[in-house]
Amino acid sequence: MASSRTLGTFRLPPLPTIREIIKLFRLQAVKQLSQNFLLDLRLTGGLSVFPRRLPRVPGGVGSRGFRADPAGGRRGSGTKVCGGHKIVRKAGNLTNAYVYEVGPGPGGITRSILNAGVAELLVVEKDSRFIPGLQMLSDAAPGKLRIVHGDVLTFKVERAFPESLKRQWEDDPPNVHIIGNLPFSVSTPLIIKWLENVSQRNGPFAYGRTRMMLTFQKEVAERLTATTGSKQRSRLSIMAQYLCDVQHILTIPGQAFVPKPEVDSGVVHFTPLTRPRIEQPFKLVEKVVQNAFQFRRKYCHRGLGMLFPEARRLESTGKLLELADVDPTLRPTQLTVSHFKSLCDVYRKMCDEDPHLFAYNFREELRQKSKKEDDKQSCRL
Ligand code: SAM
Repeated sequence: MASSRTLGTFRLPPLPTIREIIKLFRLQAVKQLSQNFLLDLRLTGGLSVFPRRLPRVPGGVGSRGFRADPAGGRRGSGTKVCGGHKIVRKAGNLTNAYVYEVGPGPGGITRSILNAGVAELLVVEKDSRFIPGLQMLSDAAPGKLRIVHGDVLTFKVERAFPESLKRQWEDDPPNVHIIGNLPFSVSTPLIIKWLENVSQRNGPFAYGRTRMMLTFQKEVAERLTATTGSKQRSRLSIMAQYLCDVQHILTIPGQAFVPKPEVDSGVVHFTPLTRPRIEQPFKLVEKVVQNAFQFRRKYCHRGLGMLFPEARRLESTGKLLELADVDPTLRPTQLTVSHFKSLCDVYRKMCDEDPHLFAYNFREELRQKSKKEDDKQSCRL
């Protein structure tokens, strides 16, 4: 146990390749669950071995009777063993780190994380079919890999790692990292939830400014990191960038996955900022930003106007934009985070003056209006 914990020098023993693990445990991807696995070892890194029935390769027999695969799992491709760890390397130095991997699946990224000299890796996987394969990895890395069969959307990671890892928010980030390649349908709601956790300094951010590296549909990765004025600028850009330093660090072509998804993926790295660029409650920022992008091709006053009841929409929108010093004819995509800061600060003051304002929802007003119309019609009949 002690030797396996020797930091920075740990290497997994030879193991079956991910492709072989998939075969061994019959882990066919479930299309409805958007499962696509990373098999390209140039991206994930890691040692691999052939099962017995595959051609004999000189160069050692693994501890489980598997032989080392000199091609790093890409037979005949000439790829070097352990060639890359590309994705995991992008997370920064993981030596002695505590890592939380979400959705490990058959364990491609998991292997690279283990080979990066981490102190501990906690994985949370929802699909029970992957647990035996992960258990095999855990046996190969005694004391390093903790497996939880659970759901990342409800798992309480704030209780999972030692208290001693906690850092003050203003300090350097803690040695806790989140890494994951989840289905796109999970990663987008999850990042919204985690951004709210960043703003409240709870959940994974109870340890301090925990860094995250997550995979998204490439287009979502572009939106998260889009700069002012760009085509991809959206609600997600502002929500991520007001709280974090966000970087699109890698694009992974669809063919790196099995089965090949219809779109490429983008890997995004997040480091929470010591001071958010907008110092207002998350829900308030979300409301202003959501409304601003309501009509993304129109002038920004159109969407922002929806923050206010129809009867005083014109007047209140004018006041908001004037006090925030924002040109009403800018398009939502042209608004900077600093524009949003001013808009949120002024909207907050307006909400403090009118306690009903924050609860106002223009869709609800429209619904009420059309219900009244319907009632009038039926009275006339
Ligand atoms: N990370 C692996 C890779 O890169 O090869 C697997 C990627 S696959 C796209 C997503 C994985 O996340 C699957 O193993 C799936 O079962 C798991 N998953 C999906 N939703 C999850 C959830 N809510 N909680 C935990 N795991 C989840």
